[in-house]
Amino acid sequence: MNWENISVIATTILYMVSSILFIRGIKLLGKADTARRGNLLSSVGMLIAVVTVLLEKNVTDTLTQPPMQNAYLWAAAAIALGSVIGAVWAKKVEMTGMPQLVALFNGFGGLSSLLVALTQYMTDKNINVFSSIALGLTIAIGAIAFTGSIVAWGKLSGKMFKKNVAIPGKNFINGLLAAVGLAGVCIYALSIAGVLDSDIGKIGIIIVTAAYLILGLTMVVAIGGGDMPVIISLLNAFSGLAAAFAGLSISNSVLVVSGCLVGTSGLILTLIMCKAMNRTLYSLLFGSFGASAKKGASGEQKEPKSMSVEDAYLILEAASSVVFIPGYGMAVAQAQHAVKELCDKLEENGAEVSFAIHPVAGRMPGHMNVLLAEANVPYEQLKTADEMNPQMANTDVAIVIGANDVVNPSAISDETSPLYGMPIINAFEARTVFVLKRGKGTGFSGVENPLFTNDNTVMIYGDAKQTVSSLVSEFDEA
Ligand code: NDP
Repeated sequence: MNWENISVIATTILYMVSSILFIRGIKLLGKADTARRGNLLSSVGMLIAVVTVLLEKNVTDTLTQPPMQNAYLWAAAAIALGSVIGAVWAKKVEMTGMPQLVALFNGFGGLSSLLVALTQYMTDKNINVFSSIALGLTIAIGAIAFTGSIVAWGKLSGKMFKKNVAIPGKNFINGLLAAVGLAGVCIYALSIAGVLDSDIGKIGIIIVTAAYLILGLTMVVAIGGGDMPVIISLLNAFSGLAAAFAGLSISNSVLVVSGCLVGTSGLILTLIMCKAMNRTLYSLLFGSFGASAKKGASGEQKEPKSMSVEDAYLILEAASSVVFIPGYGMAVAQAQHAVKELCDKLEENGAEVSFAIHPVAGRMPGHMNVLLAEANVPYEQLKTADEMNPQMANTDVAIVIGANDVVNPSAISDETSPLYGMPIINAFEARTVFVLKRGKGTGFSGVENPLFTNDNTVMIYGDAKQTVSSLVSEFDEA
């Protein structure tokens, strides 16, 4: 067996090893207590894949010849620089900043696939028709994932596109952009098939790149209300699909496997999120979720009632069933440990305590589960909306901790609300509702919340961690 054959077999085996590590990693990501190990395994898989690509025969052949003779140095420098930036960034990011970081990673994934495809277009003169179609689709999906994710990052971080931009004829414009871009892919593939001139093929590439870069922008910029989580997981799926098509176009099996894993898991998550938000994928892509947030109803506005921590303690002390409903504000305040302490105090006092977790509470799927697991809240105590809602009317106190949209009753009662149709945690049905928030800020959707002015609701203003810690102190002093 010559050296070339050994190299091909070694490459194939290493690609299989990294694919297995990806699959095993994704499996372990499914549970909070194995997720770190899953992440580590997948990272090792990625390292093996990257090193193997750099040692592949056709890559070494190209990268050691002029004008590419310094390519390994460049690659080493890029890997070192990227690793340092990634490590520092991930270390520094606050838990509340994770979703926008994830959105940015999706965008970078899309951009990488786009650049791989454009590089292949410029360098590969022997491309066949199948690869040219895969290349065109890589450009399309990579471009939409890139600009869409940048807009999502801007929205989530509050740095750009804070207001939902209503685009008149949005569906028509998006449909047109999608069709024009696909026409660009066809033009390029026809040029490779020899039907059209290669200069016209170049125009096809320019068309698909431009159309899908704009489409990412127009598709996501109009999205508001509470629909961002679904679009983020869809963009995640797009970034995976783009990588899978890139793998097909450059004939790299590990890229196809990893791209398919990200694409399909992203798509499954999208469908789960759609279900949780009571949206269909069709309405997500073509529906009216660009509807702008409606301010409170005109006419006389009721003022929410507020209560001191001392008075709230007296009600809690007498409660025999308490439900915590955490939301994004709990993450901002990092109140999860204090919440666990309050949970313990209530249980010592004889109350039955549960946590009602909404699937889109916070800013990323599983956000609340991760925080509460970190504070050692037993998994069995975390209940879904379906499990908790039937019991809510028999609950003495519902404590809403920095949640807003996920307990907004207009999702049930107000057809004009952008939240309408989204299942919520029915906090309003509890005998008494405590809402812990800093002031009169709206939630992510920007929609006013009628729960706050209900007769059975009292606001306890202040940072959630401070308020919960003060309640714990009241129990300690009693
Ligand atoms: P919301 O964003 O609706 O509300 C959070 C509330 O927390 C605000 O009203 C704010 O009020 C309060 N708050 C902020 N900081 C603090 C603090 N330090 N202490 C106490 N309260 C605080 O959160 P929800 O979890 O209810 O809803 C999540 C929303 O985010 C949904 O609309 C969802 O669609 C969207 N989303 C979810 C994603 C996901 O994957 N889970 C991803 C992207 C978006 P105030 O300023 O007055 O304190």
